[in-house]
Amino acid sequence: MALIVQKYGGTSVGSVERIQNVAARVKRYRDNGDDVVVVVSAMSGETNRLIALAGEISAAPSAREMDVLVSTGEQVTIALLCMALQEIGCEARSYTGAQVHILTDSAHSKARIMDIDHARVCADIKAGRVVVVAGFQGVDEHGDITTLGRGGSDTTAVAMAAALGADECQIFTDVDGVYTTDPRVEPKARKLDRITFEEMLEMASLGSKVLQIRSVEFAGKYNVPLRVLSSFEDGGEGTLITLEEDGVEAAKIAGIAFNRDEAKLTIRGVPDHPGIAYQILGPVGEANIEVDMIVQNIANDGTTDFTFTVNRSEYAKAMAILDGISTELAAREVVGDDKIVKISLVGVGMRSHAGIASKMFAALSEEGINIQMISTSEIKISVVVDEKYLELGVRSLHEAFDLAGESAD
Ligand code: ASP
Ligand code: MG
Repeated sequence: MALIVQKYGGTSVGSVERIQNVAARVKRYRDNGDDVVVVVSAMSGETNRLIALAGEISAAPSAREMDVLVSTGEQVTIALLCMALQEIGCEARSYTGAQVHILTDSAHSKARIMDIDHARVCADIKAGRVVVVAGFQGVDEHGDITTLGRGGSDTTAVAMAAALGADECQIFTDVDGVYTTDPRVEPKARKLDRITFEEMLEMASLGSKVLQIRSVEFAGKYNVPLRVLSSFEDGGEGTLITLEEDGVEAAKIAGIAFNRDEAKLTIRGVPDHPGIAYQILGPVGEANIEVDMIVQNIANDGTTDFTFTVNRSEYAKAMAILDGISTELAAREVVGDDKIVKISLVGVGMRSHAGIASKMFAALSEEGINIQMISTSEIKISVVVDEKYLELGVRSLHEAFDLAGESAD
């Protein structure tokens, strides 16, 4: 007997039949003696449809009204799921975010959860009911509806699990777990049985978008065991995302993440003196452009080359800024490349094992792949390479670190 929070995403509740399947699954857990709180997303495509509708009326709809609008998708699915549960003899009650007091700040469309008053949910659980909560939405201190950002139902589920002290938060989705890399790039990618919160954060932020990043942060902070499972297959164990276990030697490498939407910019031959990095990146930051990797190379003539990467969609904007400041900085030239990708090796085992970086570079060099930039953190090594090498790079690293095998070391 356990208290489980289950979250079903848009595809899992994408049709009446699928909603009935979810109800049947929830009932199986109930019959097993578990208490279940369900968090659902809107039916697949619904949130996009609502956003498009708003776009037909206004180019810049008010943020408050936008949240009133897009939060309706989840209100449909909570009611339908409860009806489906009731049809099969499973007592259930639906609640909007406001009804269960998912209190957030007032940052419409990207609100953060501050508190959940779970009294009502607990009373229902005690009374033997399944509680179905609308994902993605909350309410601010003024009573206005807020939403948590795209994919935010994951975060609702984790927050509910944390507030209720649930034994596990299960995220049912259209994949059966977290893989060593994207199986569309490397068909030999293997499903991981476990991964740590930290590794998952690196995998997610680097493009393996199984979960909303914020939900993983939240789960890590409150130590909520998080399990990713397929809603279309029964019996699978999925992937468990948890803290690093003491005593268990972690695999050195959990997986390979990559990001295709990268671009790099270089400003060459600027004077090597204090303040130069700020003079370059200050205006970039002011324009709200997020900078990822940064490399500075000092030449022996007293100048320096400064390279950084941005999201490809911000490339033109960043280039215009560099062009604008290059005269003032007496730069030799400004160059860029928006045909690059980032490939990252992720694993907590890196902390205690030497030689991972050299093994990575050896594998890439054997394939003749030129590394343009490198950055490292405690549990991650990232390289920037020409976009034409993405598939080859990922596959050769997958092979070199034997990630398809049973033990990843
Ligand atoms: N329905 C919302 C979205 O599409 C929230 C979610 O699915 O998690 O982003
Ligand atoms: Mg989602």
